[in-house]
Amino acid sequence: MKVIVIGCTHAGTAATIQIAKRHPDAEITVYERNDNISFLSCGIALHVGGVVRNAEELFYAHPDNLSELGVNTRMRHEVLAVDTERRTVTVRNLETGETLQDTYDKLVMTTGSWPVVPKLPGMELDHVMLCKNYAHAQAIIEKAALAERIAVVGAGYIGVELAEAFRQLNKRVTLFDNTPRVMYKYLDQAFTDIVEADMVEHGIELALGQTVQELRGKDGKVTGVVTTAGEYDADLVIMCIGFRPNTGLLQDQVKMLPNGAIIVDEYMRTSSPDVYAAGDSCAVRFNPTGEAAYIPLATNAVRMGTLVAMNLKEPRVTYKGTQGTSGIRIFDLNVASTGLTEQAAKDAGLAVRSTVVTDNDRPEFMPTYEQALLKLVYEAESGRLVGAQVLSKADLTQSVNTLSVCIQNRMTVEELGFVDFFFQPHYNKPWNLLNQAGLQAQADLEAWAARGGLNKIGWSAAADTA
Ligand SMILES: Cc1cc2nc3c(=O)[nH]c(=O)nc-3n(C[C@H](O)[C@H](O)[C@H](O)COP(=O)(O)OP(=O)(O)OC[C@H]3O[C@@H](n4cnc5c(N)ncnc54)[C@H](O)[C@@H]3O)c2cc1C
Repeated sequence: MKVIVIGCTHAGTAATIQIAKRHPDAEITVYERNDNISFLSCGIALHVGGVVRNAEELFYAHPDNLSELGVNTRMRHEVLAVDTERRTVTVRNLETGETLQDTYDKLVMTTGSWPVVPKLPGMELDHVMLCKNYAHAQAIIEKAALAERIAVVGAGYIGVELAEAFRQLNKRVTLFDNTPRVMYKYLDQAFTDIVEADMVEHGIELALGQTVQELRGKDGKVTGVVTTAGEYDADLVIMCIGFRPNTGLLQDQVKMLPNGAIIVDEYMRTSSPDVYAAGDSCAVRFNPTGEAAYIPLATNAVRMGTLVAMNLKEPRVTYKGTQGTSGIRIFDLNVASTGLTEQAAKDAGLAVRSTVVTDNDRPEFMPTYEQALLKLVYEAESGRLVGAQVLSKADLTQSVNTLSVCIQNRMTVEELGFVDFFFQPHYNKPWNLLNQAGLQAQADLEAWAARGGLNKIGWSAAADTA
């Protein structure tokens, strides 16, 4: 069985290692255009901020590891074309410029994503950077050393982490977003209010609810950012406004979402026979809605890559979907979210309700304790959990992993109220915060139903706060 893997970061590394281990008879060739594999982009901000000093620590695998497993490891090779009818790939050796053709029995498409590059005047200026891979990380660090005013465009988790890292280097930082709040997709306002206040207190200038229209420059180098609300000086601009799947090689050959994300079934098979895909190149099943969605995360990538290997010869193990669970530490706040925010659910026209509980993370008789904020979002009619968020100076982020399991298993808030969690004063209270939230949500739901629920009060996306 001849297997070709295109792209080798998280999905590709997971798929390749597992195929080599599970299918010793397979003849595997990996084509990767970079000279490295498995780079953890999630460490870029930590590296920029000086927490991770040695960038080499941000790789968990080396091309030699693949070669030792018997894999033909072709680094600095870019796949130029794929023909799924003839089962061929055309490849350029980026070192020599030579072009070659190869054939496969099974193709694994793990070409990932690339940052969205907006068509703005000034994007071509020096010191306007993207943030995705190892080369970007090195270039950002080099340029940031000389920069005084840094503009980070995009206040998703990557932009927020970078803004924090640049502040830790004592740079003047402005964070831009066209939405009115930071991390708009992950957190509702009660949470972003706290995060934003913390960021401002730490000296980050927030320029939210305004769209970047132009980058100004002088002598070929960026000097400022022009938005719908004003002009800002900047001598380094980092664009991190989102990602697009990098799937041009299979265009018109497999089914995709309109944004180009490859649609795979639960065994990671594309619509073309013997072509598999995993990671950021793919759409995933978003469990809160049951719909296909584009949620590029390393967690999805390693799971999907592993499943490719498990299902390569025959369909065996199914993908369980995702809640898009993510966590972030911003200065001294620990924040995590899973599933839909209330805002996202309402934007999608879902009839949901929500409950917020605030409590200390452990008993007040303990020498120290921290306030915690936990929100549940659930279907108004059934009480099924569809989302959750947590924020505290204490690290309660694992509770969102627990809630991710609850959402995946379609549990209701009432069921959550009675899950067996341990109690130990070092860690929590007799009623665990999750139990408390489940019980409170069920009480809220019953009170709302007694007032008439959906039938009497009806439901309106804009105005349902009663
Ligand atoms: C700054 C940053 C922080 C992040 N933080 C987190 C986090 O905290 N948690 C989390 O879960 N996720 C995080 N992510 C997302 C995570 O990095 C991605 O989801 C993950 O990298 C996806 O892995 P992948 O293998 O599918 O694709 P990619 O990482 O995009 O890798 C694709 C690979 O394919 C190669 N390739 C593409 N086309 C070709 C071709 N034609 N020929 C040869 N090779 C090709 C590329 O060179 C690349 O190596 C972060 C991302 C960034 C940028």
